[in-house]
Amino acid sequence: MEDCLFCKIIKGDIPSTKVYEDEYVYAFNDIEPQAPHHVIIVPKIHIKSANEITAENSSYIAKIFEAASKIAKELGIDENGYRIVNNCGKDGGQTVGHIHFHLTGGRQFGWPAG
Ligand code: AMP
Ligand code: ZN
Repeated sequence: MEDCLFCKIIKGDIPSTKVYEDEYVYAFNDIEPQAPHHVIIVPKIHIKSANEITAENSSYIAKIFEAASKIAKELGIDENGYRIVNNCGKDGGQTVGHIHFHLTGGRQFGWPAG
């Protein structure tokens, strides 16, 4: 999508620090990390939010979780654990309109989320 920040990052039009990439997903370091490890994982097709997940595109979401598992191992946070977060819409705190999953780790997180 033309005016989408994360589509531009996927295309390389906006620079990012790549952590992982395959045919389906792209992962990069968050510009404003909230934990020692904070990776953003996005599908390489424009899906606006969790509301737009369908039977046709959900395989991309599965690939995101496969990537998260690999990345967590590469970062060495798989043993201690980590948190994967998707913010959806206004109340969810979503600020970029291309679905993305935050993979955060390297510290203890509280619950419930704020
Ligand atoms: P959310 O609030 O769930 O929509 O998350 C958007 C995330 O994207 C935030 O954690 C931002 O820090 C991050 N972000 C925004 N712009 C960039 C960028 N150019 N490179 C990397 N991360 C970004
Ligand atoms: Zn997009």
